[in-house]
Amino acid sequence: SDTLHIIGGGMAGVEAAWAAAGAGVPVVIHEMRPEKGTFAHRTGKLAEMVCSNSFRSDDDENNAVGLLHWEMRAAGSLVMRAADANRVPAGGALAVDREGFSDAVTAAIEAHPLITVERGEITALPEAGHWIIATGPLTSGALAEAIAAETGAEALAFFDAIAPIVHADSIDMTVAWAQSRYDKGETEEERRAYINCPMTREQYEAFIDALLAAEKTEFREGETAQYFDGCLPIEVMAERGRETLRHGPMKPVGLTNPHKPGEKPYAVVQLRQDNALGTLYNMVGFQTKMKYGAQVDVFRMIPGLENARFARLGGIHRNSFINSPRLLDREMRLKSKPHIRFAGQITGVEGYVESAAMGILAGRLAAGEILGRPIAPPPPETATGALLAHITGGADAKTFQPMNVNFGLFPPIEARGGRKGRRERYRAYTDRAKAAFTAWLAENALAAA
Ligand code: FAD
Repeated sequence: SDTLHIIGGGMAGVEAAWAAAGAGVPVVIHEMRPEKGTFAHRTGKLAEMVCSNSFRSDDDENNAVGLLHWEMRAAGSLVMRAADANRVPAGGALAVDREGFSDAVTAAIEAHPLITVERGEITALPEAGHWIIATGPLTSGALAEAIAAETGAEALAFFDAIAPIVHADSIDMTVAWAQSRYDKGETEEERRAYINCPMTREQYEAFIDALLAAEKTEFREGETAQYFDGCLPIEVMAERGRETLRHGPMKPVGLTNPHKPGEKPYAVVQLRQDNALGTLYNMVGFQTKMKYGAQVDVFRMIPGLENARFARLGGIHRNSFINSPRLLDREMRLKSKPHIRFAGQITGVEGYVESAAMGILAGRLAAGEILGRPIAPPPPETATGALLAHITGGADAKTFQPMNVNFGLFPPIEARGGRKGRRERYRAYTDRAKAAFTAWLAENALAAA
């Protein structure tokens, strides 16, 4: 049949439905709430915001998430329309009245003549038809099992473990140095892959004390605190023994500090280049459940990071997501069952905005296929296309972790005529993206019904 079925009426599901129905395709949304809930959702409304009421920065000239807002609005986003109509003052951020927002989305979906909402949990993978799975970070257990049976259990994660990310230009390189472990004569580029921050014994002991004392975020009810051994929070490692970190992620071996030749560091914090631009570095092995304020205080105790600015703090969350780089094709279809697409946070993007954007894209791709007018994936110079390229190929499948949109995912813009300032560079990214997105929309128009 020519009906598009969507499992999940969250940020991604409603956008996919809106995009496909807008092109004239009949849609059924299968949403398990309120019959069956999750530990974070409180209502039976569609597109419920489970935590913050913010869609983050609305600056479409200097900020990647603001740019994504711009692209979503250009593509007729329902989430952006409902957000704009329910805006509350929040400086440069797009924050909303959460009840008003979800009410507006629910009303628009229920009023659409081509969209039906069926309440109830889906527990098996559909065998035929056109489907999008958009069941989010809290995908129900039965469906998660069915997905794992199809993809292999190792390709479906139930937690994410995020290490903090630091802006490279805020690291004090008179204290820290670039070198990868056990280097045997590195090129400049290889050397820059890692930055090392040395600790004396006293600094290490003080750091462990601070880690143990820091305020932690508790797992919420129903969010079982069962980590994989490979991604223990650093404070849990420290609880297992004061020396555990020094033999784990902070081991000082295979490294020599050029600032203090002849003096062996007692422990070393390593940061690894996190983006192609070399502007971001992640703290290797430093996933944590410390509260954000505590993280900043504790991590600034690390020599070289006294003035660090964090692009992203660490966290560990209940989060179901698939290994998209391995499992999905460039059109978000499951390679082994191409009648099923995935969209939203379950594809390994992170956040309301990114999830909604992947919903719009999946809806348009599915509609194009159903209508016999296939559309091309958006180019990687756009925020939407950069996210798509990351999850379906750009990211390393072996270390795949959820990703927010950021300029590091875009093809780099060469600084012409010397170094460009950060603002100027970001502006160049957003200008290029808007032109590319406008052209993509025009070339891949889906006629309205
Ligand atoms: P969701 O919005 O979760 O929608 C998925 C839908 O599928 C839900 O309505 C669910 O009921 C339904 N469903 C699940 N399984 C089935 C099934 N088997 N059958 C039928 N329906 C099913 N993002 C932010 O940007 N800011 C934040 O502050 C933030 N805080 C968060 C806090 C928590 C505790 C969690 C878990 C997530 C948080 N996120 C936050 C992430 C955010 O929730 C997601 O990015 C976003 O909601 C994902 O959209 P989605 O459509 O993929 O999933």
